[in-house]
Amino acid sequence: MTRTNLTIDPDRLWGTLMETAEIGGTPKGGICRLTLTEEDRRVRDWFAAAVRAAGLELGIDQMGTMYATRPGRDPSRKPIAMGSHLDTQPTGGKFDGILGVLAGLEVMRTLNDAGIETEAPITLVNWTNEEGARFAPGMVASGVYAGEVDQAWAMEREDAEGIKFGDALDAIGYRGTEPVGQRCFGAMVELHIEQGPILELEDKTIGVVTAAKGSIWADCKVSGRESHAGSTPMNVRRDALMAFAEFALAVERIARENGPDGVATIGVVQALPASRNTIPGEVRFTLDYRHPDTAALERMTAAIDEAATTIQAERKVEIAIDRFWNKPPIHFDESICGAVQKSAAELGYSYRTITSGAGHDAVLTASVVPTAMIFVPCKDGISHNEAESATREDCAAGANVLLRTVLQLAG
Ligand SMILES: [Zn+2]
Repeated sequence: MTRTNLTIDPDRLWGTLMETAEIGGTPKGGICRLTLTEEDRRVRDWFAAAVRAAGLELGIDQMGTMYATRPGRDPSRKPIAMGSHLDTQPTGGKFDGILGVLAGLEVMRTLNDAGIETEAPITLVNWTNEEGARFAPGMVASGVYAGEVDQAWAMEREDAEGIKFGDALDAIGYRGTEPVGQRCFGAMVELHIEQGPILELEDKTIGVVTAAKGSIWADCKVSGRESHAGSTPMNVRRDALMAFAEFALAVERIARENGPDGVATIGVVQALPASRNTIPGEVRFTLDYRHPDTAALERMTAAIDEAATTIQAERKVEIAIDRFWNKPPIHFDESICGAVQKSAAELGYSYRTITSGAGHDAVLTASVVPTAMIFVPCKDGISHNEAESATREDCAAGANVLLRTVLQLAG
């Protein structure tokens, strides 16, 4: 087999997906493999054995991130990285993160079988704690790698039982010795399920991910006036909940006007004093809005403020919006995106460019390594759910695009 018609083994890839899905497997067909638990240790042990059997050299950094390297002809070249995460949500699926790691393993096995030597080394990465389900926040190891998260702070994060991240790392024996961030990569490519419905709706096999949405998180409060539900006429009320309702619909309209990339969510709402016969005097709520374009995100911010100003005046309430978190959009590296697109085209897969609404390790590495992502469809766009599902064909297509992209980059 030559490089140009080299493809991965779909059955072998599917076999590893199904085999590892039993580690932390749930009765409903999902996986519960929270980071740094016994289940995580077992899948890491499986991964370590598999990469060693493939002749790769395994290194582990102080955050527990695992790096398995296949040497290149030219050791002076920076390795090309691919990878994702093996940890899951408590009721997670079989593909989120896992596909990116196991497809990387399949790429390594395919190169071995074909006896192909690349110029640059290739490194397969299993990032620790992408999900953030046990220890918040998520993407913490790639965050430390990229210099965006402080390592000592990360080590002190506690789970619901008060166990510290660093102690959990020791407990499963995966605190490595290698300083975090010392490895320099020439590129990083992450294959992932889309976790949304667009590819499936448009019947496309491959998403060439060009950007990740920026997100703004705010804690908000509407202040009105509490008064009696029976004796206060409608025209003199300063009902915080009704003002909130109007504001919520305005937020939805603003997101739609900036769609399909613009999205906004109010996930938590609390009306006070929470009494059946008292007009709510205060409503506290969260606001999360996102867009892959900085200017559009700013337009959304301005429109949200304008809606708040109008509603405040009309309803004689106060609306406070505390934007405490602002993550700018990330644009993936154009040349790596180009390599992904070229690979999809050469393999004859249907594809489109797409943006990521979710966070990924690749979003963090993008600030220090030229990075891109490959998406494949998942059924009904469902993820973070035991029902999460992707087809054998789509997983194989994603792995083939990963293989070809890595070959282009590694030379
Ligand atoms: Zn993921």
